[in-house]
Amino acid sequence: MAYAYDDQNIFAKILRGEIPNKTVAETDHTLAFEDIRPQAPVHVLVIPKGPYVTYDHFAAEASDAEIVDFHRTLSRICAEAGITADTAGGCRFISNAGEHGVQEVPHFHMHVLGGRRMGRMIEQHD
Ligand code: 5GP
Repeated sequence: MAYAYDDQNIFAKILRGEIPNKTVAETDHTLAFEDIRPQAPVHVLVIPKGPYVTYDHFAAEASDAEIVDFHRTLSRICAEAGITADTAGGCRFISNAGEHGVQEVPHFHMHVLGGRRMGRMIEQHD
């Protein structure tokens, strides 16, 4: 795969402790923190600590341990935030990739949004 990781991106700086964050969960492989511009009452960003640019990059090249840890941490965050679809109102997971996905920060992250009813998935085309 030809993904090139830019270690000056803002999430790399957060991982190195150069920029503060409001941490929600942290494990050996995964960090979750509050989005600085929340779009919903719950808006957490879940990121792997490794240098992956997009979800498909992560899924292709991360170790099994990293992949399992990422998803188990995400699951735990949903349960702790009270936004799962089985016991609460549900939520939305979004991961933007590249130019067409309108990805702002080139370090793979999953947006976890909950606490309100979301609109339709895609409304804008700008
Ligand atoms: P993207 O468009 O790449 O999927 O989303 C990037 C997200 O990162 C945006 O929702 C934006 O609000 C968030 N973000 C950008 N800079 C920072 C920051 O310095 N700290 C935190 N916590 N979130 C940030």
